Amino acid sequence: MIDLRSDTVTRPTSAMKDAMMAAPVGDDVWGDDPTVNAFQENLAEQAGKEAALLFPSGTQSNLVALMAHCERGDEYIVGQSAHTYRYEGGGAAVLGSIQPQPIENAADGTLPLEKISAAIKADDFHFARTKLLALENTIGGKVLPADYVLKATELARERGLATHLDGARLFNAVVASDIPLKQLCLPFDSVSLCFSKGLGTPIGSALVGSQALIDRARRWRKVVGGGMRQSGIIAAACQYALDHHVADLADDHRRAARLAEGLAKLPGVEITAQATNMVFVRFPDEHVKPLSAWLKEHGILIELLYATRFVAHRDVNDADIDKVIAVMEAYFSRH
Ligand SMILES: *Cc1c(COP(=O)(O)O)cnc(C)c1O
Repeated sequence: MIDLRSDTVTRPTSAMKDAMMAAPVGDDVWGDDPTVNAFQENLAEQAGKEAALLFPSGTQSNLVALMAHCERGDEYIVGQSAHTYRYEGGGAAVLGSIQPQPIENAADGTLPLEKISAAIKADDFHFARTKLLALENTIGGKVLPADYVLKATELARERGLATHLDGARLFNAVVASDIPLKQLCLPFDSVSLCFSKGLGTPIGSALVGSQALIDRARRWRKVVGGGMRQSGIIAAACQYALDHHVADLADDHRRAARLAEGLAKLPGVEITAQATNMVFVRFPDEHVKPLSAWLKEHGILIELLYATRFVAHRDVNDADIDKVIAVMEAYFSRH
């Protein structure tokens, strides 16, 4: 199958599995796992933060970050289409007693500054306490403009808010914009990074921030059941991805652009967005089901739940992209 539903479908390579097998391990809840400790130190250094903490998933890393920044009765300002608001089961409210204050994202994924400003509540007991601004980069595949990030985080700081970045795909932004990880993390108090997307690990995310924030996060991670034991096997995969897979994201971006170019030529197909490794496509409603079935028949899987999305990743190659374009062409030449 050519699986374009998400970059989460990437599988560990045999070299990555070798690194996992060879990793020295210990009990990380006791702080004893040398591979976890080395990975966390290395990542913190690369991200320009004091400390890092390994998580089983990005959802948990984001949730714990929100819980480390906010207390019961606090709120965070977040995009309507942000993962931390829309796609994490309402975890901040359900498990953290933290109220989200969602704002409509602009087409480029940003939260307009005047809307952020207007959403910050006065210090009055009628209101939840606005404590945090949460952004996402990349969002819908798009890299947030660097000058926007500086302005938004500066506004937050001026108004006494902390800042969190859901950087599940921040390495895609690093590669697409050629700006070092450190610089993209600098404006934020905390950043969550995923290794199980385009970087290809079977599991693993990490939160980076100040030592004080990570100490609070370690406590909440234990509370939500994320304290893991010999998790060096996971950290070894993440370290391997960091060392060997980041630059390869450029191939994913190139393939997504090539796919968009091929699909744009087809009558009835509208490319609504293409950035980094994602292509968002619209076709007339009546085609959605039969086209998806046609693709499946030809060994191609795509995501239709939220928007019609094709995601390039390291487990699809140039020939696969050509095949997808050809199969799409064949469908539209018949319908
Ligand atoms: C995938 C993703 C996450 C975390 O997802 P998990 O599946 O829990 O690792 C967070 N934010 C964004 C934007 C994501 O795409």
